Amino acid sequence: MQIEQIYKDANALLEGHFLLSSGKHSQYYLQSAKVLENPKIAEELAIALATMIQAHGVEVDTICSPALGGVLAGYELARSLGKRFIFAERVNGEMTIRRGFDIKEGEKILVCEDIITTGGSALEAARVAQNMGGVIVGYAALANRGFCQRVGSELKGKLTCKLPNDVPFFALADFEFDIYEPTECPLCKLGTKAIKPGSRGN
Ligand code: ZN
Repeated sequence: MQIEQIYKDANALLEGHFLLSSGKHSQYYLQSAKVLENPKIAEELAIALATMIQAHGVEVDTICSPALGGVLAGYELARSLGKRFIFAERVNGEMTIRRGFDIKEGEKILVCEDIITTGGSALEAARVAQNMGGVIVGYAALANRGFCQRVGSELKGKLTCKLPNDVPFFALADFEFDIYEPTECPLCKLGTKAIKPGSRGN
């Protein structure tokens, strides 16, 4: 699948000066919600991801996504795999699983995001699921920002990747953009201000 083209066609590959949730700056931003607003495309992406997971022989009982970003991708993946879907959400900054979702002892959980950058939120969701008795069997995302090593890619993970090495990470593509510390950002040096994606209608 031509994931980059799908993002471009949906105007979901934004160019500008962005403040990422990590505090770093980037010239590009992937707005997956714009891709997933089309349920047919969401379904096709999820089927491709489900096929990779099944081909790798990973057994899954339940998909768990960190809200809000991972929910649409995770729900579609759960549908493709014919599995249950739950989500984790932040309450006062802390990731929790609430709303009556339960996890059985030994339940096989796959954590799904829309995009994995360093995997921080995915890892937090995984830890909550583990504390409830779940076993993390894998991570998945529509796209990998190039910090973590995904199954089937030559791109090596970086030290900043937070995902563990002992479970597989599945994604459909690598989008490797430079990100900058604010003090070293060339866009800041040009005098523009980094904006938080979503805060000004993007
Ligand atoms: Zn900047």
